[in-house]
Amino acid sequence: MSLRLKFNLVLAGVLLVAAAATGMYIHRFLQDSAIEEVRHNSQIMMHAALAIRDYTTELVKPHLDVTLLEKFLPQTVPAYAATETLQRMQKRFPGYEYKEAVLNPTNLRDRANEWQRRIIGDFREGRVALNQEVTGEVGEGMHRAMYVARPITIKQTQCMACHGTPQAAPTTMLQVYGDKNGFGWGMNETVGIQVVQVPMYYPLEKANQTFYTVMAALAGSFALLFLVLNLSLTSLVIEPMARINRKLEDLATKDFLTDLVNRRRFFERLETEMAETRAKKGSLSVVMFDIDFFKRVNDTYGHESGDAVLKSTALRVRELLRSSDCAARFGGEEFIILLKETPVGAAMAMAEAVRARIADVPFDAVGHVSASFGVATWNHEEDSHALIKRADAALYAAKSRGRNCVVQAQEAA
Ligand code: GH3
Ligand code: MG
Ligand code: MG
Repeated sequence: MSLRLKFNLVLAGVLLVAAAATGMYIHRFLQDSAIEEVRHNSQIMMHAALAIRDYTTELVKPHLDVTLLEKFLPQTVPAYAATETLQRMQKRFPGYEYKEAVLNPTNLRDRANEWQRRIIGDFREGRVALNQEVTGEVGEGMHRAMYVARPITIKQTQCMACHGTPQAAPTTMLQVYGDKNGFGWGMNETVGIQVVQVPMYYPLEKANQTFYTVMAALAGSFALLFLVLNLSLTSLVIEPMARINRKLEDLATKDFLTDLVNRRRFFERLETEMAETRAKKGSLSVVMFDIDFFKRVNDTYGHESGDAVLKSTALRVRELLRSSDCAARFGGEEFIILLKETPVGAAMAMAEAVRARIADVPFDAVGHVSASFGVATWNHEEDSHALIKRADAALYAAKSRGRNCVVQAQEAA
């Protein structure tokens, strides 16, 4: 696995965990904030209703009670005043509702529905204390709303004037509402609830939109971070490392004087090519050569001139080789050439060409220099060392025969 892949996997893992953790936290935070806002709005509405009720009871009703004998004014009834006032608000804020839901109301529009009756039952039967509020949710989708309910319990005796018996009720009220509904209430009886409804859909939808925006921004930031870190990785780590690796590879495999591959790399290459040649049932040869009387060159013209001869020799060999061949400095003034897909005849010809190229063209400063050659073709049975050994023996034979010549190696015994 490449360094970049490993780095990106770790980075992607960390960023995904960070995004998931942040996303979960932000989602929860935004949802909680939205619900808190709804709760706050419901409290404002409930307290507005209570304020209207109190205002009607304390400042409106006492002045208008005197007219009760002539005309019943529903606006003097606190519940009616609160319901009517907040209904006007509903036009501006749809979904915000206030109702005084009663089991047996005087005005039939105040009759409690099913879930409201259930809450009234909870208060009446003591499952919820009368000094508590009940909060919950009703509706679905766009109609999802939070409700807050408080009990309406008869505490004041004057309530009984209108809700005790039809006989005791003001005639003017009976003329408006009849004598069938809203009677028989008892003192300290919980007859209904004040219930406020505040829509949840829009605050929650707003929270979702904010969440998506924040997550998109986070994804954008992470993508940018990913890109910048990858570019930095390339320029600060991968490219310098690749340069160092190439340098190390060169140091480990190349001969610095001639720029040919070294003995170690040559053997690696030979093993690879032998495997390929075996698979293809092809031919493969090696040419080994050693500069003649090189000690004399050094002694006569100096070590630097000797080095120059080694460099020029490498250059001349390189010029004659095909790209698939491989020339190496085997050691000292000894070289070896790997010839792919080359039977013995062609290898002998190549060795002869190299020999002539060295011997026929004088070297700068030192003049004519020659080399002796041993050529061995692989027999598909011996290992690489045996093959080299045969080439070396042929080279030795070339030296014995007077140098500056090419000798074909003996077949393996
Ligand atoms: P022969 O024909 O039998 O090969 O004789 P020779 O003198 O070439 O062989 P010998 O083994 O006696 O000497 C090889 C010389 O090559 C000795 C050594 O100083 C020289 N030599 C080896 N490596 C280098 C090198 O990197 N630079 C130079 N200038 N000389 C080298
Ligand atoms: Mg020599
Ligand atoms: Mg030698």
